[in-house]
Amino acid sequence: MFCISVKDLTKRYGNVIALYNVTFNIECNEKWALLGPNGAGKSTMLKILAGLIKPDKGEVRIMDKDPSSPEVRKILGYLPEDADPFPGLSVIDNLKFVASLRDVDESKIYDLLDLLDLRQYMNYKASTLSRGNRQKLAIAMAILHNPSLLLLDEPLNYLDIPSQETVIDLFSRLNSTLLVSTHILSVADRLATKVLIISNGTIRWIGDFSLLRSMG
Ligand code: ADP
Ligand code: ADP
Repeated sequence: MFCISVKDLTKRYGNVIALYNVTFNIECNEKWALLGPNGAGKSTMLKILAGLIKPDKGEVRIMDKDPSSPEVRKILGYLPEDADPFPGLSVIDNLKFVASLRDVDESKIYDLLDLLDLRQYMNYKASTLSRGNRQKLAIAMAILHNPSLLLLDEPLNYLDIPSQETVIDLFSRLNSTLLVSTHILSVADRLATKVLIISNGTIRWIGDFSLLRSMG
């Protein structure tokens, strides 16, 4: 069984074709980058896999289940692009909210706050954080429950260089299946060993990163 299976998927927004006849499979515990320029269809692909929107055509299965099924909700971690934690809640209350939904031990919250250098802001409302710290909070909210499938949409957005390193290190230590979107080749290279290149809603190349590198 594949962790992610996508077959003949097409998604339109009105007249815009965001994804066209996309087919690929991802095995469990593999680390994949979804690489492509702005507008390629990366966010749309991740939203469909996260069960937030439906394709117009084609089949999408996560562990042989529908993406919006309760079984998938339980194992999935999703970081949207421009993630926006509840602005009126403090950092700690945003995380406690996720912990309560997901049945997570609260000690895990403090580990993540320390790892991401957010402890000093834990009582600040999310709306008062810098954009970078808000991104780190959203990352913490996405991984708090140890998801076995992690979908990350441009996770390094807004982060300064030290924070990028912290976050790359954190992701590389997770035991989950990973699909991470980025428009930056070097970011894909840091986070993944496999790569799926898309542009204009179509897959252009799929395979091992090492092969891509050897081709220059
Ligand atoms: P990427 O994440 O690779 O930048 P997107 O999935 O966001 O690409 O977008 C793919 C295409 O779909 C683009 O042409 C974009 O303008 C269009 N698109 C995305 N979301 C919407 C929407 N809600 N309504 C209309 N068009 C959209
Ligand atoms: P940075 O990424 O620069 O740390 P922050 O928004 O977290 O950005 O903080 C910027 C400055 O504003 C810091 O000195 C921080 O202590 C202060 N600050 C941010 N939010 C609050 C708040 N709710 N109450 C008091 N000071 C705050």
